[in-house]
Amino acid sequence: MAVVRQRRHPDLKLPLPDAASDRRPRFPLPLPPAAAAAAAAGGTATLADLEKLQVLGHGSGGTVYKVRHRRTSAIYALKLIHGDCDPTVRRQVLREMDILRRTDSPFVVKCHAILPQASGDTAFVLEFMDAGTLTSIPIPSESALSRITRQVLHGLSYLHSHKIVHRDIKPSNLLVNSRMEVKIADFGVSKVMCRTLDPCDSYVGTCAYMSPERFDPDRYGGRYDGYAGDVWSLGLTLVELWVGHFPYLVDGERPDWASLMCKICFGDPPSLPDGASDDFRDFVGCCLQKDSKNRWTVDQLLAHPFVSRDRR
Ligand code: ATP
Ligand code: MG
Repeated sequence: MAVVRQRRHPDLKLPLPDAASDRRPRFPLPLPPAAAAAAAAGGTATLADLEKLQVLGHGSGGTVYKVRHRRTSAIYALKLIHGDCDPTVRRQVLREMDILRRTDSPFVVKCHAILPQASGDTAFVLEFMDAGTLTSIPIPSESALSRITRQVLHGLSYLHSHKIVHRDIKPSNLLVNSRMEVKIADFGVSKVMCRTLDPCDSYVGTCAYMSPERFDPDRYGGRYDGYAGDVWSLGLTLVELWVGHFPYLVDGERPDWASLMCKICFGDPPSLPDGASDDFRDFVGCCLQKDSKNRWTVDQLLAHPFVSRDRR
């Protein structure tokens, strides 16, 4: 199938106010084990070792650059978070540091070093993903989408097995390289699960991709299962990648989070248009179950025919 459909709303940003913003992060930022971090980044000890080549993207509180290590010529992505950002963003920095220190998977963007600066800025030296995010690739064929999905599921399976919920799965947080490897990035609102989630703390991320029970836990027996929330966001991401626009919005519609919340909570979940296979349609249906207890887990989804069958 020739696929040249135009994407609309290529990077939908609808962050919610963070209800837990009164919880102050602990400062100064803890330093990473310096020797290990420096060795991993080819001897990066300071920002001066990295030459900025171009801006890759802007996020809340900072900028991401493509950089070259002056001595080794290795290319990295440098995520620089400004120290004068608001407390919510500072808390995200701490979360991201905590998670990135714990993760080591081929399906998660690798962090080579974390370099806290005297200015208060924090620099993350990351694996460079040279093809950008899933928002910047042409709309994939179903077989390509199946391969993409399998990789994201492996990344989520790794995270969930380490009790980490991502909480912001969306096309712009899934990075891709020229080998078509897809990796999960951006752990600013992720969480290491202890027992249960504080309902206030569950209210973070990009609301457009949030599951119904995150907005309206009472309707679902007071349950908010962060793992199932990631699966919902994956389902929505797949529909978006297939149809080329955020599925809850029709053409020309203004995205505002209050009306979106109503659609997510009270409307039917999006489904795939004609042209998708039964396997794909069923897979999306397993992700987009409104009641989280009917939603498939990541490990169940890995055995689903849409991703387990060879579709070359
Ligand atoms: P947002 O609030 O939009 O989620 P953010 O502050 O969380 O942004 P990131 O999502 O980590 O920041 O990065 C912003 C953008 O920078 C990404 O959408 C992507 O275009 C680019 N980017 C981030 N990390 C990398 C990387 N490792 N390799 C290549 N590009 C990257
Ligand atoms: Mg992001």
